[in-house]
Parts: sequence; structure tokens; C-alpha cells
Amino acid sequence: MAKISINLATGSLQKEDIIVGIDLGTTNSLVAFINPEKHPQVINDAGKGVLVPSIINLNKNGDAIVGTDAKEHLIEDPEHTIFSVKRLLGRSYKDIEHYQNFFSYKIVDDDNDTLVKVKVEDKFYSPIELSAMILKELKARAEHALKTPVNRAVITVPAYFNDSQRQATRDAGKLAGLDVLRIVNEPTAASLAYGIGLNPEEEKTIAVYDLGGGTFDISILRIQNGIFEVLATNGDTFLGGDDFDRAIIEFWISRSGLTNDELKQYKEIRQALRLKAEAAKKHLSSHSTFEGEVQGIDCSIDKSTFEGLIQPKVNHTIASCKNALADAGLTVTDIDSIVMVGGSTRTPLVKNSVANFFGKEVNDTLNPDEVVALGAAIQADILAGNRKDILLLDVTPLSLGVETMGGLMDVIIPRNSKVPTKAGRQYTTAIDGQVNMKISVFQGERDLIKDNRKLGEFELKGIPAMPAGFPKVDINFLLNADGILTVQAIELRSGVKQEVEIKPSYGLTDAEVEKMLLDSVSHAKEDVAQRMIIEARTEGEQMLYTVDRFIKNNGQLLSHDERAKTLELVEELKNSLPTGTKDEILAKIDELNEYTRPFAERVMDIAIATAMKGKAI
Ligand code: ADP
Ligand code: MG
Repeated sequence: MAKISINLATGSLQKEDIIVGIDLGTTNSLVAFINPEKHPQVINDAGKGVLVPSIINLNKNGDAIVGTDAKEHLIEDPEHTIFSVKRLLGRSYKDIEHYQNFFSYKIVDDDNDTLVKVKVEDKFYSPIELSAMILKELKARAEHALKTPVNRAVITVPAYFNDSQRQATRDAGKLAGLDVLRIVNEPTAASLAYGIGLNPEEEKTIAVYDLGGGTFDISILRIQNGIFEVLATNGDTFLGGDDFDRAIIEFWISRSGLTNDELKQYKEIRQALRLKAEAAKKHLSSHSTFEGEVQGIDCSIDKSTFEGLIQPKVNHTIASCKNALADAGLTVTDIDSIVMVGGSTRTPLVKNSVANFFGKEVNDTLNPDEVVALGAAIQADILAGNRKDILLLDVTPLSLGVETMGGLMDVIIPRNSKVPTKAGRQYTTAIDGQVNMKISVFQGERDLIKDNRKLGEFELKGIPAMPAGFPKVDINFLLNADGILTVQAIELRSGVKQEVEIKPSYGLTDAEVEKMLLDSVSHAKEDVAQRMIIEARTEGEQMLYTVDRFIKNNGQLLSHDERAKTLELVEELKNSLPTGTKDEILAKIDELNEYTRPFAERVMDIAIATAMKGKAI
């Protein structure tokens, strides 16, 4: 198994030798590569700048503008301008419902566990598609600047990203036409950029402090034998440089004496103030005063006033650092190095507070906006086999996963994972009272299991009868150093368990592995499109099942007309399933969902009323 992966990294697949590193950020994204002098370098496409704001403006025809040009639409065209899509990646509506006010565009409220979607005009976009638009822009810029096709990439994600968020990032890469060789943690990439962890002999404990535009993370990493282990993470997903900008605007406004109502009338002023505040903040990173004005509003501010405004936010990040250390069971003296990441760490108060807390100089010689992308490029170079001095651990050449509804491949261990490795996910039943669950194990990179290779299957029997969605079945994959896969399924509520052993590499030649990989790249687009339609269909079928069950159990609560209208919408959804496009199916689901939601509330009210009746008060 190990041999195959090294062949792949250096051998016949290497038709073009560029593998880029991509930092897909919440606020800004960028791409880097290893230049001919063997140094990591961020790509600056013909003076367009290095940072691509992670913003997408979608016009009525669904055409997308990405980056700096899209940022200009943020204030005047909020419904069509998508920002912070990274916050939605791999998330269900339940995950984000408390933050809904944060987003100015429409997030579809399905009121269930499926992944969120964004609705612009009458089109539905998944966060995967939107992220793919940003990645496409980065790919195009890299190709334009390097004058060569770019098809392979390493993409970074926050250390706290879960399986579903990582898989979503991978899918976005695929949809953008990139073969994603590895998903790397942002703090790991930042450390690599500083050369930390490149020497396999070195053992170190490091803290990576990342303050970006809208998010703050602190990660404590332990590096041993070239392996980066995340000991603890902490942070605040709604704290960053944008808060600094807002604090400055509030200060200017309160000093100007203008009321908020007066200001609300001028959208352009808000946008101008926002830009001015960001400029002031950046200026104060290297000067002690800033002078300016916007439409008669005095926009001057000095450094100590600014620091007073942001002190509470900075203190909050230091409290997170304390918590992360405590979770890792460490104290500040255990930390060997501190790495600074994110544009907002340029603010001297931030930098000094972190250095003070850890009692040490921080690593800040590299550009903090760029370090993650630079480290990703180094990781890409290692994977390409260009750094013979670095030990590349054994990796699995093909992804391993299970079949989920609709014949989709759900990857549990992605290809290029180091072995030995262990990973798992939780699944549930699709039908009420389902007592057996068939688990089919597949290997390959395609989205549909019919295009992948079946390794085996077994049945988890004796799940106690429960409503659909209630059983919690953990499926765990354990791939040992010899490449033997053990698959275990366990229903957590009852403890029912079943285990099998499989040899994934058995019977596959190098050439076959290579063909499977090449197929996955050449079919990426159709695969992802097909996966999305199947996901929409599955969601539609589940919706029909739920509504059907509702009518059977509570049909008497509906008026004649309501019942007729519901059945009409059910019929429309049913008809759209076999032939409709993804958007058509989602629109039908949306309609049925919107119409029937109040009925569910009615059932709740009656249930409460009945419960009250039963009790003597
Ligand atoms: P993310 O990782 O969330 O995509 P970045 O690391 O690109 O974000 O950080 C963006 C933030 O850094 C913005 O709030 C921006 O205003 C801030 N920033 C950029 N340059 C400076 C500077 N010189 N001083 C202070 N803040 C800065
Ligand atoms: Mg970042």
C-alpha cells in the first residue's frame, strides 16, 4: 500500500508538476506554490493582489463575480452577495440557526438535519458550489500567473472542522476541477511555513494564534516524528477584525452626534465608513494617529483610543488561550513557539498581548495573511515527493467509505490519509421500525458507488424497532499499518454490534489504482452534479415520507382545502423527482415545507392543550 502511494506521488500521474496550496478563508482566500528557487510564494496574478476576498456576487442570470469586484456589491446588493460561506460549509440549518441574522442573504430553513442551502432569486446554491466558485477563481488566477494548468491542490481548514466540513471542502475542490490531495489543518500549515515540524527528529509543543476577519482560533499542537497532533482548540467563531472596524465606526458615529436613524438613510455612507474604519485600523498598526472624514463626519482616531475600544475583544482571545492550555493539560512554560496567523494579528495590541501572555517572543516574521497558504504549498511539495529529506508516512492510495441512500459513496477514510488511521461517522435508519441495516464498504474516488469498487458488505441485525432517524449507528473504520481494514458498526442506544475485516489493496495493481484516480478527475464535474441531484431526490423522498406519515396520523387536523392543497403539492414534488433538475426538486420541497410547517405547530399546540387537560390545576 505504501509503495503504491509513493508511485502515485512521483510517478506516471505527474503529468504537470505543480500542486498548489490553497487557504480557503472566511474573509480572504489565496493560493501559493513552490517557486523554481524552491521557496513557497503566494501567487499575485498580474497586479490583482494576493488576497481574493471570499465574496461572490450572483446576478439575475446566475453569473458569478468573485473577489474584490464582488466585495463592492456587499452593501448595495446584499441579497445577491454571498460572504462568509465557509461558516456554512458542511453545516445543517440547526447548526447555524442562532446566527441567521448575521447573514444578509437567504439561507433556506429546512428545519431539519440536512445541509443548508442559499437561495438567490429562484436558484438554490449549496455552500459547496459557492466555495467551488472561489476555488475556481483561485485556480484561474494561478493558471494565468503560472501559465500552466493547475489541477491538483492541498486545501487548508480550521483544526476544529469536523468530518462533514472537511468532506464538504474536498467536494468543493473537486467541483472546481481540482484533485484535492490532502486537507490540512490551518495551524499545521502555518507551522510548516515557519519550518516547524519539518525535521522529523524534532519534538515541540506550539501554540498557533489565528485572528482573521471574522473568526478567532487558538490551537495547541504537539509535533513528534513529523506528525502534528492537535491537543486542544478554542476560540470564537464570531470574533475578528470586522469587530475592530465596527468598534471604530461606533466611536465615530457617537462622537458625530448623528442618530442611527439619520445614518440608516445613507447606505453609501455606511459602506464608506466601513472602508474608512478598516483603513484607519490598518494605518494604526504602524502609526499613532489617523486623520480622515466621510461626508462631514470626522473620522480621525489615535492609537490609544483604538486600543481602548478593542481591549475587551483582545482580552477575550487571551481567555480562550488560557482555556486551550488548560484543555491540553499544559501551562505557558510548556509552549516552545507561538505562531501568529491572520491579518488582525498585525494590530500591535494583539501581538503584544499574546507575547505577554505566553511570556515569549512570537513568530511574526512572515506575512500573517499568507502563512497558511505558504504552508499549504510546502505540504503540497512534500506530497509531490520533491522533498526527499522529509519522511512521507504511508498513505492509503484510494478513499474508503460506505454506501448511503441513493447509491452515494460516503467517504470515511479519504485517500492519502496516513496509516494506521481510524475514522468514523454516525448514521441512522431511513424507515420506521427498521431492524436491520446493510453496510456496504467501497473503495474509490467517484461519487456514485456503482463507479467504485466494492470491498464487502455485512448486516447489522437486531436494531430495536424505532422511528426512522432515531437509531444512532456508529460506523468505524480502522486501517492498520498493513493496510487491513476493520469495519465496525454499533447501534449506540442498544449496543448491538457487528465487525468485519477486509483487505482493500488485495487484487489491485498499480495501474488499476492509477486508472481509478484518473477517472475520478475526468468525471469530477458530472459526479458532483449527479450527487447533488441524488441528494435532492433523497431529501424529497424523505419529505414525502414525513408528510405521508403526518397525514395518516394527524390528517383530521387539516381542513378539506388544506388537505387538498397538501396532496397537490405532494403530487408536484413526486412528479419532479424522477426528471426534475436539482433546483426544481428543491423548490418543490421548499414549497411543501413552507405550506405544511404551520400544521406541525398545530399538532404541538393540541398536544400541549391535551396534556394540560389531563392535569388538575
Ligand atoms: P480570514 O482568515 O478570516 O479569511 P484574514 O487572515 O485574511 O482573514 O484577515 C482579515 C482581517 O485582517 C481583516 O479584518 C483585515 O482588516 C485585517 N487586517 C489586514 N491587514 C491589517 C493590518 N495591517 N492591521 C490590522 N488588521 C489588518
Ligand atoms: Mg485565515
